[in-house]
Formats: sequence, structure tokens, C-alpha cells
Amino acid sequence: MSDTDANELRDLYRELILDHARSPRNFGKLAEASHEAEGINPLCGDKLKLYFNVDENEVIQDAKFEGSGCAISVASASMLTETVIGLTSSQATDYFSAITTLLTGTDAAPQATGLDLGKLKALQGVREFPSRVKCATLAWHGLNSAIHNSKQAVSTE
Ligand code: ZN
Repeated sequence: MSDTDANELRDLYRELILDHARSPRNFGKLAEASHEAEGINPLCGDKLKLYFNVDENEVIQDAKFEGSGCAISVASASMLTETVIGLTSSQATDYFSAITTLLTGTDAAPQATGLDLGKLKALQGVREFPSRVKCATLAWHGLNSAIHNSKQAVSTE
């Protein structure tokens, strides 16, 4: 990655995090969610609850989240809800894998999955702050847990 690309990514990261943290999309409780999960990141104090409505064709019809957390965790959850609405649960699981690889793996480009992550790529800006990576992945772990219908809380620790 060239310096220019890295700088652009950093700007995009900052912009996206601020934007979504200030005005989170799909914030609130989803009445009669078919799938839900709670995510807790004790290191930072992030506590989010995610709700999904998955129809009989395994398509995610709606997604919402509530709770409190730092800007990164809230922004990541907000972007997650925007991303997964309209996807099948298996596509959503692919995004979970791609995002966690992007944020925690050594491979900078999870192209193997064939997913176009679009703006979500900017989340990798968090890799410069290793202690905050779990803030960014929290909601995605919640998504994965909800899709697999375990109603247990997920914790990053
Ligand atoms: Zn956090």
C-alpha cells in the first residue's frame, strides 16, 4: 500500500467512524426479532445488543442494535446493520469472516472470499490501534452468534 493510499484510508476511517458514531443507523430495538445476540467487550466497556429478522428464505429482512459503547464499537455496529439487511444469513457469515480476517489477520486483503467490502474496508484503520480492534469486531461476533441462533452473550474476553 502506498503512503497516499494509507492516508486516504485513514481519512476515510476517521470520517466513517465519526459519522456513524454521531448518527448510528438502525439504532433501537427490533420488535419480534427472530435472532438476537448480546456482545460485550469488557476491556473497553462496550455492551451492544443486536437484533435480526431473518425470513423463511434465510434473508435478513431487518437489523437493529442498541446499547452503549465507544465510537468505534457503535460505528462498526451501525455499518454492520446497513450491510447485512438484504443478505442471506450465509452471506452475512461470509462478511463476518472477511471483516474479522481484515481486522485481525495478517492478510491485508481478504479477497479470497470474493466479497467487495466497499466502505467496510476503512475499518481496517483500527489496526493501527491494536487495543481497539475488539471494539470494531464486537458487533460482527454478535452477528455471527445471532445467525447461529445461540442466544448467549458473546464476550471478547
Ligand atoms: Zn470500545
